[in-house]
Formats: sequence, C-alpha cells, structure tokens
Amino acid sequence: MLLDRDDWYGVAHDLEWSLSYVEHEDAFPDAWTGSNGIPREAWRAWEEPFRVSYRDYVAVQREKEAGVAGVRDALKRSRVYQNLHPSFAAVSHLHMGATCMIEQMAVMMLGRFARFAPSPRWRNISVFGMLDEIRHAQLDLLFSHDLLKYDSRFDWCQKAFHSNEWAIIAIRSFCDDWMLDTNCIDAALAVNLTFEHGFTNMQFVALAADAMEAGDVGFSNLLSSIQTDEARHAQQGFPTLEVLMKHDPERAQRVLDVSFWRSFRLFQAMTGPAMDYYTPLDRRTMSFKEFMLEWVVDQHERTLRDYGLKRPWYWDTFLQSLEHGHHALHLGMWFWRPTLFWKPSAGVSKVERRWLNDKYPSWEDSWGVLWDEIIQNVNHGRMAQTLPETLPALCNLTQLPIGTHLDRHHLECVTREHHGRMYYFDSEVSKWCFEQEPERYAGHLNVVDRFVAGLIQPADLSGVLQWMGLTPDVMGDDAVDYSWARDYLPDAQSAG
Ligand code: MN
Ligand code: MN
Repeated sequence: MLLDRDDWYGVAHDLEWSLSYVEHEDAFPDAWTGSNGIPREAWRAWEEPFRVSYRDYVAVQREKEAGVAGVRDALKRSRVYQNLHPSFAAVSHLHMGATCMIEQMAVMMLGRFARFAPSPRWRNISVFGMLDEIRHAQLDLLFSHDLLKYDSRFDWCQKAFHSNEWAIIAIRSFCDDWMLDTNCIDAALAVNLTFEHGFTNMQFVALAADAMEAGDVGFSNLLSSIQTDEARHAQQGFPTLEVLMKHDPERAQRVLDVSFWRSFRLFQAMTGPAMDYYTPLDRRTMSFKEFMLEWVVDQHERTLRDYGLKRPWYWDTFLQSLEHGHHALHLGMWFWRPTLFWKPSAGVSKVERRWLNDKYPSWEDSWGVLWDEIIQNVNHGRMAQTLPETLPALCNLTQLPIGTHLDRHHLECVTREHHGRMYYFDSEVSKWCFEQEPERYAGHLNVVDRFVAGLIQPADLSGVLQWMGLTPDVMGDDAVDYSWARDYLPDAQSAG
C-alpha cells in the first residue's frame, strides 16, 4: 500500500542522527554553517517555508521543462530572433552573459546548504533548490547555443565569467563573495532573502514582461519558467532570519544592509539600462524606478518591519540613487561601449528623452547636457570624441565606476586608508560596507589597480580590451548605428 505524503513526510524531512565516529562540530564546522554562538537546539525552530517531496518536485519540473522545450522548438522554426529589435537583442546578450554562471554558482551554494546547513529540514529542501539552479544554468546554455549561429555574443553565456570583462568582474565580485565564500546563514540572508527574493524579480518578472511585449517570446518564457523556481527556493531565507533574530539581530541587520546595497548597485548596472534604455519605448511596461518601488522597496521594507529590523541607515541615499544611479551607469557604459560584449542602445532619441524626463523629472538637468555633447559629436562626425581613451576610476567594493550613484552634481569619490593602502569608493555606503569587514575585501585589486600595477599590457585601451577578452566580433558599439542622433539634426523631421 502506498502511504500518503503526510504519513511519511515528517520523518523524511527531519532526517538527523547522532554522529558516533566524528564530533558534531567537525562534521558541521561553524565556518561553514555560520552558526557561531547560536545553540544547536535553536535550529529545531527552523520551519520549512514550503513542503515538497521528490516525486512531486520531479512531476512539476517535468511540466515546466516540457513547456520550455515547446517554446524552444517554436523559436528554432520561427524567425523570432532575426526579427528582434537590435536593442532588445542586447538585453538577451547581457542577460545570458551576466546570469548563466550566477545560476551555476547558486548550484554550488545550495549544494553547500544541502551538506552544511544547521537544520536537517533546511538541508533537505536545499537539494531541490540545487536541482532548480542546475536547470537554470543549463537552460541559459541551451537557448544560447541555439542562438549562437546568429550572433557570436551568445558564446559569452559560457565565456563571460571566465573573462576579465569589467562588468562581469563586478558581478563575480558579489557572487564569489556571497554565494561561494560565505557560511550558510549569511548566504541565505544575502542571496535567498535579498538578492533572489527581492531583486531577481526585476530581471525575471519585469524583463519577462518587457520581452513578451518586444516579441521575444522564447526569452520571456525562459525567464518566467526560471522565476517560478526562484520564488520557491528564495523562501528559505525567512526561517533562517527568524532563528538569527532570536540570537544575533545585529548580525542580521548588517548582512541585510550590506547585501541590499550591493545587490542594488548591481541591478542598477544590469537591469536599469536594459529597462529604461534598451527595451524599445513602445514595449516598456514600467520604468526601472517604478518596478523597484513596487517589487523591491515595498517588499524589503515589509520584511524588515515584520522581523523587527530597521531600514538601512542609508535609506535616503538609496532613494536618491534610485532616481539617478542607473542613468549615470548607462551613460558611462554607452561611452565605454568597446568594453562591453553587447551593443548598448543609447535610448535618447527625442521621444525617448521625453519619456525619461516624464519618469525622472531631474533627468534633463543631470544627463541631458552630457548627451547633447555626444549628439553634437556624432552629428558632426567627430566619433573619436564619443569614445574613451582611458579607464574610469572604479570602486574597490562594488567594482563599478566612481561617480555613478547620484546625479551629475554630486560626483563623489570617498577614500579610506587601510593598512597603508588607499581604497576608493563610489559612495559613503560602499565605504561603510567595506568597513564592516575590511579583510573580506582588502586584498582585491580592481581593474584600475591592476592597470596601474602594470599587470595589463600593453598599458593602453587596446591592451585592456585584449585583457578583457573582447574580440571585434563581440565588442560593443551603438545598437542601432547612431540612427537616433539624426533626430537632432537641424533639418530632421522629429519622429516624436
Ligand atoms: Mn536560478
Ligand atoms: Mn536561485
């Protein structure tokens, strides 16, 4: 007779026994569990946020896979990709290159939970999360492989994280740190609760909606299929936070505040330009800021309130940065376009500019004048002046360009000396993150540090591009060959 799930689930999910050949502390060292100072019994209170058996899991995942496989076949037969707007193609290049290996790192993180998490229930459900992440990494590779014949940029799905491309270094810096090199408890707070539960909605829900609008049905389906898994396994952050709040609320506050800022800065670079500049105007559903407010800010505030935590001390700075930071990053990334493996869309034709000013009332004051200069140069054929000759200063924490977290009038570079070395930061908040655990970050050399140290040769932009692995077939240029700038020619019939 087959038992009902409820008859056996309680025993199966709580599988733990007393070790007799090794000490418990040796099998579950604090360095891996992160349980420093939290008594072992405390983890009995760790309640599963969802219940699933292997049989249920496989049945549901099989359905999802069948759905994705159907879309993949349709995508191969139709000419969806060839007909895709070039600036939206850039979104898919950026997404594949930037996220495929994050999925793979998540496999390793969840594998570590499955072995070292301090609660048997947590270890049990992490196995399912790990299987989720294997699926995600493999789906990205599969879709990219299908599309490789149209564009060698899809090669970067696999290649990007093995290169020194600067934007990838910024992402890798976060993921190496919080996914691969952090104990289970801190990782669950930073990755499950903050990065996945909050921010991946931006990439997977918001971009999926935009992708559907932009006609890339395959990409949209892929993103949605992945997000259903994320929404489930991200839940394991909550019971972890609940236990930690009883024993070390200060640590919970610190880990959440550091990871929220770092996640936000990354999504400003990755998702902000994709939503507000690359996605064709008539296909945009909401602005980056609107999505952030609805999907991330409200939710994060609610979580903090529910668990008795405070808003991060830098909340006002965060809200100001939400208004400006991704515009600064977009302008910088477009200007340094040879250092990208996708073709950024400038997204500042007259009609697009009206949309930007409508969504961000201070956009014109801050960024219009800089774009006007670029437009003048493009329209007068002075292309060399629209291209970089040097590198921007980079933050030693976020690895992002300094001067990209606020508006044009507040370009700040914050410094701090630590053991005889000067460190540079894009903001007081990034400096504060560094100061929480200086040794965690201190040994790292960012791209500019390496350049100055003579580790990149020849020591010029061509040497840098070579070092980043950027070959001419993938190197970034304007997505639509500068056609938007013609809008501003004196005799132009403005489309808007
Ligand atoms: Mn995933
Ligand atoms: Mn995940």
